Amino acid sequence: MKVNNVNLEISAVAPKQYPGGNLPEIGLVGRSNVGKSSLTNKLINRNGYARTSNRPGKTQTLNFYKIEDSIYFVDIPGYGYARVSKKEREKWGMMIEEYLTTRKSLSGVVLLVDGRRAPSDDDVQMFEFLRYYNIPTLIVATKMDKTSKTKWNKELSILKKSFNVSEDDIRLFSAQTGYGTESVWQWIGDKTGV
Ligand code: GDP
Repeated sequence: MKVNNVNLEISAVAPKQYPGGNLPEIGLVGRSNVGKSSLTNKLINRNGYARTSNRPGKTQTLNFYKIEDSIYFVDIPGYGYARVSKKEREKWGMMIEEYLTTRKSLSGVVLLVDGRRAPSDDDVQMFEFLRYYNIPTLIVATKMDKTSKTKWNKELSILKKSFNVSEDDIRLFSAQTGYGTESVWQWIGDKTGV
């Protein structure tokens, strides 16, 4: 999709703040610093629109980005951030869970993982959670430019095995080179009809 208009509609912490209307939504989840903002920026063809930060765990709200008046990307705060208190983590957990399990217009979730290593327990748990709730999920392995192409197949098999999915459920991606952008868009288009 060619994107001209993007608008951060709202940063929400509770359902009453979620946008009205019934545009389809795609959630983006992943560990802090995995490259969520970079993927978002690549998909919407902007540099530095979605916050990219080196301070993991800074985003603690659900950020609803309206794309072309036809779809929302929902940036879901990163999990697996050790430096916050247990109470804070629980609060995040509840906010994320509430959104994922109750939002009717949620058409799918993109789960980002670091393409340079095996998924973490948090990654697998998140995927299991999404599968349990029958939420269509695409696994996107980021930062592939940092891995030599000769290792891509090996990475794919690790991901297939760890998540117990087929290759269809995985995309390799690099925000640096743009590799995989079209393919991620295709999946999103498929799930949302845009
Ligand atoms: P977020 O916390 O998940 O939103 O992660 P960011 O998008 O802010 O990215 C975290 C760091 O990883 C930043 O320094 C990015 O420049 C870097 N990064 C993200 N994606 C890629 C990628 O595909 N390739 C490379 N080389 N670096 C990336």
